[in-house]
Amino acid sequence: MHIVGITGGIGSGKNAVTDRLQEFGITVIDADVVAREVVAKGEPALYKISEHFGSHIITESGELNRTALRKIIFTDSTAKTWLEQLLHPIIRQSIKQQLHDAKSSYAVLSSPLLLETDQHELVETIIVVDASEELQLTRTVKRDSASEDQIKAIMAAQMPRQDRLKKANIVIDNNADLESLKKQIDKLHTELSRLAEETK
Ligand code: ATP
Repeated sequence: MHIVGITGGIGSGKNAVTDRLQEFGITVIDADVVAREVVAKGEPALYKISEHFGSHIITESGELNRTALRKIIFTDSTAKTWLEQLLHPIIRQSIKQQLHDAKSSYAVLSSPLLLETDQHELVETIIVVDASEELQLTRTVKRDSASEDQIKAIMAAQMPRQDRLKKANIVIDNNADLESLKKQIDKLHTELSRLAEETK
């Protein structure tokens, strides 16, 4: 099974790309979704978090109280490290399992932290979705109804655009309209299907 990693900065267009690939029947594992799944109601990791930080970290309906957790890790770097050390291996294991179970000709791992974590070791081809910082900002502000400052702060904490581009095997240029993006993805899908066939 050929495994492809897709990454890019906030608002670069990762979801736009993976939505289209899913239309072709390709299995897409989204690391952000997995990160939520592993702390869903009843999951062992959720109990460990509650044991460590106290029961107020779980809401009355048994869900993770994300606001409370965010507050703790924002001010306490030891707590943040503890949480990362708990969750990263569990997230990685779940991603590995889901990629292993994929039935499509190739499978995709979409992750904003593909290059910053060891998740890139799980993929054979690295695809970077690239848009100018100005477009990342305007598109995300529009999508999330967020403030420019909020999005700028997230962008500043992410890997610089040029560093990310250096690590790419394939770059998807998302500086034009959605039609142009779609054309590139369709070409990419043909290419990846061929690659998957060759490496079978
Ligand atoms: P995040 O890292 O925040 O999850 P993302 O990389 O998945 O973001 P998308 O959600 O796919 O980015 O795209 C950001 C926004 O920009 C969305 O509202 C999307 O519809 C829009 N968008 C993406 N590509 C284009 C484009 N080429 N032209 C216009 N709008 C676009």
